[in-house]
Amino acid sequence: MDISGNTKLAGILGYPVSHSLSPRMHNAAYQAMELDICYVPIPVEQKNLKDAIRGLKVMEFIGANVTIPHKVEAALMMDNLAESAARTGAVNTIVNSDGTFVGHNTDGEGFIRSLEETVSLDYELAPAVVIGAGGAARSIAVALAEAGIKQLSIVNRSIDRAAELQDLLRKSYPSVSTTVYGLNEELGEAIEASKLIINTTPLGMDGNLKSSIVPVDNLTKDHVVCDTVYTVSGVTPMITAAREKRATTLGGQGMLLHQGALAIRLWTGIDPPLEVMRQAIESK
Ligand code: NAP
Repeated sequence: MDISGNTKLAGILGYPVSHSLSPRMHNAAYQAMELDICYVPIPVEQKNLKDAIRGLKVMEFIGANVTIPHKVEAALMMDNLAESAARTGAVNTIVNSDGTFVGHNTDGEGFIRSLEETVSLDYELAPAVVIGAGGAARSIAVALAEAGIKQLSIVNRSIDRAAELQDLLRKSYPSVSTTVYGLNEELGEAIEASKLIINTTPLGMDGNLKSSIVPVDNLTKDHVVCDTVYTVSGVTPMITAAREKRATTLGGQGMLLHQGALAIRLWTGIDPPLEVMRQAIESK
């Protein structure tokens, strides 16, 4: 990479960010597009988020992605919110528009694009279980509601946060029926009644979990099981269990690819080369 005084900067704010494949994927895209942009990982602890965002502005970054655990808090620190972020209350992409920071969210659309590459669904007939209630869960739940889903179960460690997401959906999508569960509650019936199951927690990242977070006995070949977590091996305990039951499975790489491509489009106005980005992710 030829970095000069003219190189523009973008990056990803999160904690941790060392696992992120975004720098690799973005820099491969900018190189192929012959754009003088460098994308860097920026580890930022929660207490420093405001300073970090102010720093990006002072240093004239063209923008940044935001990841765990900052997406919801970052939405409160933007100058403006695009509709995608206002609808979800979470920001995964900051766009520097002449010194004004505009928060966007490309996670929901990125997830739907990745899902539709794998399976064709009638959303009205596809009850879903979303595990997690953070930034990624909000984006995915709203994207599914927009797509026409009618039933959604929200499973989360903290019930308060799950109830907040339920409130958000009740206000904006009253036709979607929602139920809230604690992560340790009995999930068998919710899983059996569902078509789509989506993990949006970090549980399952390499090494931090030994068994599936959903009850394996209730999985069938009719389920579509999605893990937003991406791992070096390409699988997580939930994906392995679902494959054993011959369910359709989807890892986090496709969502990573599409949310990243949408962010690049927001920063540059150009559609990036998806195959170059896909190869950068898969060759790791
Ligand atoms: P977030 O806003 O911080 O939300 C984290 C969620 O995970 C919350 O629901 C949290 O529960 C739960 N959680 C965290 N640690 C947990 C633990 N040890 N046990 C049980 N639950 C736990 O983060 P986010 O931005 O939504 O990201 C979450 C994950 O989604 C990330 O790890 C990332 O891998 C994945 N993701 C992937 C993509 C992709 O492109 N593939 C895009 C976005 C996100 P509480 O509410 O109880 O704290």
